[in-house]
Amino acid sequence: MKKLLLIKSAPEIFLKGLNRNKFERLLKKNIAKKLEGIEYEFITDMGRWFVYSEDLEEACSRVRKVFGVTQVCIVTQIERDYEEIKKLALSKVIEAKASNFKIETNRANKEFPKNSMEVSREVGGYVLTNYEGELSVKINNPECLVKVEIRDKAYLYTKLDIVKGEGGLPYGVNGSTMLMLSGGIDSPVAGYMMARRGVELHCVYYHSHPYTSERAKDKVKDLAKVLASYTEKVNLYVVPFTEIQMGIIEKCREDELTIIMRRFMMRVACELAEQKGIQSVSTGESIGQVASQTMEGLIVSTDVADRPVFRPLISMDKEDIMDISRRIGTYDISIRPYEDCCTIFVPKHPKTKPQVEPIRKSEEALDIDALVKEAVDNVEVYRF
Ligand code: ATP
Ligand code: MG
Repeated sequence: MKKLLLIKSAPEIFLKGLNRNKFERLLKKNIAKKLEGIEYEFITDMGRWFVYSEDLEEACSRVRKVFGVTQVCIVTQIERDYEEIKKLALSKVIEAKASNFKIETNRANKEFPKNSMEVSREVGGYVLTNYEGELSVKINNPECLVKVEIRDKAYLYTKLDIVKGEGGLPYGVNGSTMLMLSGGIDSPVAGYMMARRGVELHCVYYHSHPYTSERAKDKVKDLAKVLASYTEKVNLYVVPFTEIQMGIIEKCREDELTIIMRRFMMRVACELAEQKGIQSVSTGESIGQVASQTMEGLIVSTDVADRPVFRPLISMDKEDIMDISRRIGTYDISIRPYEDCCTIFVPKHPKTKPQVEPIRKSEEALDIDALVKEAVDNVEVYRF
C-alpha cells in the first residue's frame, strides 16, 4: 500500500481534439519542471497520471500550482484485489468519521470481473456490514465520498484527499504577451490571469530614474519573481523612461501628459514585443478605475498599438482584484510604499475624455521614433 498523487487536468484540455497530444506533452513537461530538485517518479496507469515521492506534501504543493492542473488527489494505491479494495474502503469511511457515505467507482480495466455499478454496490454493502456504529448510504452529497479507481492497480481516495489545483491551461500553449508590469496591485494580477490561460509571459517596466528609486525597481523585480513561480521563467525588461517623460512635460499641454505618456508606454511595449517575437501586449487596466482608464483613454492609448492589447481586469472591481493578489502572493509586495513613475508626473486636471486626433496633433512636437528607439536601445533585461 502506498500513497501517490493523482493528477487531474482541465476538462477543456480534452476538448481540443487534435491538439490533445500537444497539450498533454506540455502539461507533463511543466509538471516535471516544477518538480525539479526533488526525487519523484512519474507513473502512468491506463491514461491517468500519478506522481510518487518520498516528500509527497512538497510534491503536492508544487504540482497544484501548475496551470492546467485542476485537482491533485492524494490516493492510496493497492493491488487490483477485490478483498483489499473492500477493506481499504472501510478504513477510509472510518477515518472520515462520517455518518453517511457513498462509493463511486470507475473501472477502467475491463479485465476486472465486476463492472463499476457492481463494485460500488458490493463494496458499499461490505462497508455497511462491517462498520461499527451508525452509518447509512447517501447518494446526494454524502459526508464521505469514497472514489475507487480500478486500473492496472486500484486507487482509493475520499473528498478529504482532494487538493484544488490552480486550473487554467498549460503554460505556453496559447501564444505570448508583453505585460506592462508596474509596482501596483493590478498588473501582476493581470499577468497571472494571462499566464493561467496558457499565455507565455514577458514583462516590461518603465523606470524613471532618478524620480523613481532603485527600491521601486526592486519591488517590480520581486513581483516578476512571484509571477515566475507560476510560470517557468519570466524576462523583465526595464526601460529608461525619464527622457520620454521630460520630453512630454517640456513640449505638451499639462492636461495631456498622462494620455501621451500612456501612448509612449504602449509604443515601447509594442516595439519591444516586435523585437522579441512576442504577439500581444497586456495591461492591468480596469474600466473606470482611475481618471486615465476611461473608455476614451483606453481607445486613445490603443490607437498606437500595432498588435492586440489585452486587459484581463477590464470588468473587475478593485476588491476582487485585491482578493486574487492576496491569494497569488503579490499583494504584500504591491503595497510597499514606493512611488511609481505615474504618480510623479500627474497633472492636476488630466483629460478624462481624450480624442485621438488632437492628441496626435500635440505629439507632433515630439520626435516620437527617436524617443522610442532611444528607450528600447537602452533596455536592461532581468531573468527570473
Ligand atoms: P497597477 O496597479 O497595475 O499599477 P494602476 O491602477 O495603478 O495599475 P495605472 O498606474 O494607471 O493604474 O496603470 C495602468 C496600467 O499601466 C498598469 O496596470 C500597468 O499595466 C501599466 N503601467 C503603469 N505604470 C507602469 C510602469 N511604470 N511600468 C510598466 N507598466 C506600467
Ligand atoms: Mg500604477
